[in-house]
Amino acid sequence: MNILIKNARVVDPENKIDDRLDILIKDGKIAEVGKNLKPNGAEVIDATGKIAAPGFIDMHTHLRQPGREDKETFLSASRAAAKGGFSSLVAMPNTSPVCDNQGVVEYVLSEARKTGLVNILPAGAVTKNLEGKDLAELADMVKAGVVVVTDDGQPVWSAHVMRRALEYSKMLGIPVMDHCQDPELSKDGVMNESYTSTVLGLKGVPKEAEYVMVARDIALLKLSGSRLHIAHVSAAESVRLIRQAKEDKLDVTCEATPHHFTLTDEAVREYNTNAKVNPPLRGKEDVEAVKLGIKDGTIDAIATDHAPHLATDKDVEFNSASFGMIGLQSALSLAIMELVDKKYISISQLVQKMSANPAKILGLKNKGSLSVGKDADVVVFDPGIEWVYDEDSIESKSKNTPFLNWKLKGKATDLVVGGKIVLKGEKIQ
Ligand SMILES: [Zn+2]
Ligand SMILES: [Zn+2]
Repeated sequence: MNILIKNARVVDPENKIDDRLDILIKDGKIAEVGKNLKPNGAEVIDATGKIAAPGFIDMHTHLRQPGREDKETFLSASRAAAKGGFSSLVAMPNTSPVCDNQGVVEYVLSEARKTGLVNILPAGAVTKNLEGKDLAELADMVKAGVVVVTDDGQPVWSAHVMRRALEYSKMLGIPVMDHCQDPELSKDGVMNESYTSTVLGLKGVPKEAEYVMVARDIALLKLSGSRLHIAHVSAAESVRLIRQAKEDKLDVTCEATPHHFTLTDEAVREYNTNAKVNPPLRGKEDVEAVKLGIKDGTIDAIATDHAPHLATDKDVEFNSASFGMIGLQSALSLAIMELVDKKYISISQLVQKMSANPAKILGLKNKGSLSVGKDADVVVFDPGIEWVYDEDSIESKSKNTPFLNWKLKGKATDLVVGGKIVLKGEKIQ
């Protein structure tokens, strides 16, 4: 099927395009981007007044399948992704069984194909069963199709194992993604260590827990000359360390989540377990530092850390509640509201951080731009639509979000994945 996206404001930072144009899609690829293209029988998406861009790529999604299909499945997460404008997701490996060998990678890829709505790319574990001791079969997993390795959920505890992982991944041509958090400094902590945690009587996680690990990883990166991606940066000092490492020409990239640039630890007041995340929401200065890091390019990508949990995991005492929140359907709106509307970044930079940069970091050569011949993954969104993020609008099986019932601005209306329309007029096809 051929598709013609008409009258869009096409934003494609890789090709320095920000102009009123049409996009013609043929045989699953971008065939032409230009003015007044004729449909010649193609299905038309009228994008008047909207923006068309390369589809968003979420580098950090917890899909819960295999193992916890009651919380989320490939299908429910894919539906949430489609509504959020994401044409690709990277599936974190902390499932049951853990994605630490070729067999599980193949399972993920075959289930992803069966689901068929958005692209689901597997991430492999760094260590066997995420235990932090022995390296997983990295080479076999890369051969089977993983795009990154990570022990996300926890850091790679041992500096020695992290060094080896960086050395192997260098040979394999993929980055190591690390959840930077010193396990002893953060032990038993449930929120940011701050005045608020003292008032609430909750055990805090100091920001030092994050940035000592960022500093360690940067030192190991220097030693190995590999590629390092730091997940969900939350602390000002982490941003400063990464900025310095980039100035020193080290191959380090990082991401920030919408919740870390939108909310402070004040969101935890009233013991709101939906605001309990790992790393925790930080104070005002840290949130501002994350936004400035996004603005100046220190922070390369916006990733959701979408982490579905059932009400039974969240409607409990704060200390026992699970960490994490869902994020696929709110990410674009929060980025528009907090970053674009408040003049930290332009729409073109937003597309860079949600599509072009993730594609580069993950080595997805056919994604992240609208050049002729690239995969036809295209999102159409209206940055001005106002809508209420209520329970009925949530496609995830889990509804754990502190943004529930927020009035949001900006929404994906159409999404093409691999030349197939999966979202049209805000409806999944
Ligand atoms: Zn993490
Ligand atoms: Zn995560």
